[in-house]
Amino acid sequence: MTNEMKNIQIFDTTLRDGEQSPGAAIDPERKIVIARQLGKLGIDVIEPGFAVSSPGEFAAIQQISRELQHVEIAGFARAVKLDIDAAIKATQDAARRRLHLFISSSDIHLNHQLRKSRDEVVQIARDMVAYGKQFVDEIEFSAMDSTRSGRDFVIQLVEAVIAEGATIINLPDTLGYAMPEEMGELFRYVRKHARGGDSVRYSAHCHNDLGLAVANSLAAISAGATQIEVTVNGIGERAGNCSLEELVMAIETRKDAIAAETNIQIGEIYETSRLVSRAMHFPIAYNKPIVGRNAFQHESGIHQDGLLKNRSTYEIMDPEAMGISRNMIILGKHSGRHAIKHRLAEYGIPVADEQMEHVYNKFKETADAKKIVTDNELIRIAGELTDTQPDPYVLQDLHVHAGSQRSRTATVTIRENEGGTEKAYVAIGEGPLEAVIHAIQQAIPVAAEFEDLELHSLSTGEDAHGEAVVSIIHNNKRFRGTSIHNDIVLAAAEAYVAACNQAVMTTGSRHASAKDAVR
Ligand code: MN
Repeated sequence: MTNEMKNIQIFDTTLRDGEQSPGAAIDPERKIVIARQLGKLGIDVIEPGFAVSSPGEFAAIQQISRELQHVEIAGFARAVKLDIDAAIKATQDAARRRLHLFISSSDIHLNHQLRKSRDEVVQIARDMVAYGKQFVDEIEFSAMDSTRSGRDFVIQLVEAVIAEGATIINLPDTLGYAMPEEMGELFRYVRKHARGGDSVRYSAHCHNDLGLAVANSLAAISAGATQIEVTVNGIGERAGNCSLEELVMAIETRKDAIAAETNIQIGEIYETSRLVSRAMHFPIAYNKPIVGRNAFQHESGIHQDGLLKNRSTYEIMDPEAMGISRNMIILGKHSGRHAIKHRLAEYGIPVADEQMEHVYNKFKETADAKKIVTDNELIRIAGELTDTQPDPYVLQDLHVHAGSQRSRTATVTIRENEGGTEKAYVAIGEGPLEAVIHAIQQAIPVAAEFEDLELHSLSTGEDAHGEAVVSIIHNNKRFRGTSIHNDIVLAAAEAYVAACNQAVMTTGSRHASAKDAVR
């Protein structure tokens, strides 16, 4: 093992390839918001879109080029003048930029899609690289479907574009077909045999059709690639692209084995993942590595207990280093006494040993019935059994009017435990849930920004339960409340109150007056 760490450039194509996920298309304004966060995350190169595709897309690329002065901008183009002109023009104001040109190299694509001979394709690639080179120095050339192409033809094509001034050679596994060994072999072969092959940089662009995008990208790194093309949450065509967070955390966690590093700010990973998921309406699988809701959730009592004694017993990464807060870990029927006691202590609720047994038994009963126990239920159990009322605010009653004719109205009654007051508030909204949220916002004077509401069905047969998860931002911290009920509107209301209670209890901002509340 060598001490020399190779720096891997992270090329993000969330806004180009990622946007090609079915249903993930977004408007130009949202692209700019995501691009800003990607800049904060520390990516090296951004591909903000396909300039020739629409005027809105062109304008977004133009604005991102102007704003992200510390990130290199890639202008994406087919090997045709019209595309190149649009890409060049849209990225004009970038501090640093490159042209990213692609053409197919596999016989399948040549025969059935392009209907051109190999010689014709080489000539087009030559001409278009030379054309682009008049405007920009940095030219990335992608031999599309390179992993299903004949080696000799890839070499012929790569030599031709290097001769015309291409500076970065990307060998994409466009269909997610390659095995890691083959991927490594392809990079080694091209680097060794292409004339001028040692004068350029290499990049990999892997798709995840067989779940191998990250493994193939790592194989490319060990075979000499210094740039990897990724998307946030792995979104993209079909099964998606190499996932940014998985690749970066593999490199970060296994530096010893990979001998590489990236410029990514690990602490921004979760924020970026959430933003992309929300903005592109693309949910994240619960068990997705790094950013999935269960990625750091330990159900087994043995694991939870070990974890509380020492994190490294059952974790190879620290979720908090990626901006994932611990209070999102949900307790379930496998949780042990230690974890339950620890969670209650986090809310400032001490439970004496003799009371703990009752809390534990009640917890298990609830867990058997509902599978998971939310924090507010746990607090309620502890409160009932220890005869205390730790929740600052309690939802006493909820009444909602929904339907197709009039605006939706909600009435909530909230008790404030400290002052012993109880008040009702009425609000309207576009939908019943919005009306409920507006009413609770009036009732609970906590300066919190409503971030997100997720609804999930937990139904089995006729036993229809809904789970609501609400996240809010208070004093720059994220708080999450969860509730399960067979009335989904009530679940959402309880989850929101639970999130507010967490914010108040953990930050001690109980005495904030309604006047100070800013929303
Ligand atoms: Mn792709």
